[in-house]
Formats: sequence, structure tokens, C-alpha cells
Amino acid sequence: MSMNNKYIIIIGCGRLGRVLTGRFSSQGHSLVVVDSNAEKFSLLGSDFSGFTIEGDAIEMAVLIQARIDKADALLAVTNNDNINLMVAQVAKDIYMVPQVMARVYDPKREIIYKNLNVSTVCPMLLAADEFFKLGQG
Ligand code: AMP
Repeated sequence: MSMNNKYIIIIGCGRLGRVLTGRFSSQGHSLVVVDSNAEKFSLLGSDFSGFTIEGDAIEMAVLIQARIDKADALLAVTNNDNINLMVAQVAKDIYMVPQVMARVYDPKREIIYKNLNVSTVCPMLLAADEFFKLGQG
């Protein structure tokens, strides 16, 4: 993904969201992080310079507050496939966000995301690939 000074929304400030926030932040991008649990924001690195929004990402008002209409990229990385799918769909279909990515736990759902033109990462499949590679050694 090549991104220069983009406006990026990260949905979910859990373990994955925080790592992504740190990485994109260090590249100089403008970030907004959304989480329904405000306590998660205190776990962000001290160098985080973006905005945080406490709210349920399933609510349109929260996405509008995050300025989804201006986003260059959105990463839906909550721990809930349904939320990630819904937010990704809104981002693609209604707000035409150029780059939409989502974590998807259930590999069977990946086809739905593909039809939405959303890039997916399935942690279980990645882990399976790694274990399989290790097992070949
Ligand atoms: P993790 O699995 O550690 O990457 O954490 C997932 C994060 O997603 C947690 O911080 C949750 O609070 C957050 N999360 C789950 N559901 C929602 C939601 N509907 N809206 C915003 N954040 C959510």
C-alpha cells in the first residue's frame, strides 16, 4: 500500500488497531481512531498525535464524526466480523473511500468482502500458513 500523508480512519483501538496506528502514525499520516471502549485510548503510544473518538462504529453519526467522507483509507479492525463488514460496506458503497481493509476472523466470509472490493486479512489463515511453513522445515 503506497500512502503519502493520507487521512486514515482506524476502527478498533485494540491490540491490532494500536499496532497499525503506531505504524501509520510513524509514516506521518493523519489518523483518527474509533473505539467503543475509551479506556483503550490510554494504551496508545505516547507519540500518537491523531484524534480519538469514543463510539460504536455501527452508528453512522460516529463515522460521520470521524469524517469518513474525507478518508483516503479505512481499516475495520474490531474483533467483530459483522461490525467490520458493515463499516467496510458503508465506507465503500456510501462514502467511496478509496482503500478499505478489514480483519475477518471467519474465512468463509471473505467472499462477501471480495464482492465489496474490500481487502481482507484473516488471522487464522495467516497463522495456518506460518505453521505449515514451519512444519516443512
Ligand atoms: P483486539 O481484538 O484486541 O484487536 O481489539 C478489538 C477492539 O475493537 C477492542 O478495543 C474493542 O473495544 C473494539 N470494538 C469492538 N466492537 C466495536 C464497535 N462496535 N465499535 C468500535 N470499536 C469496537
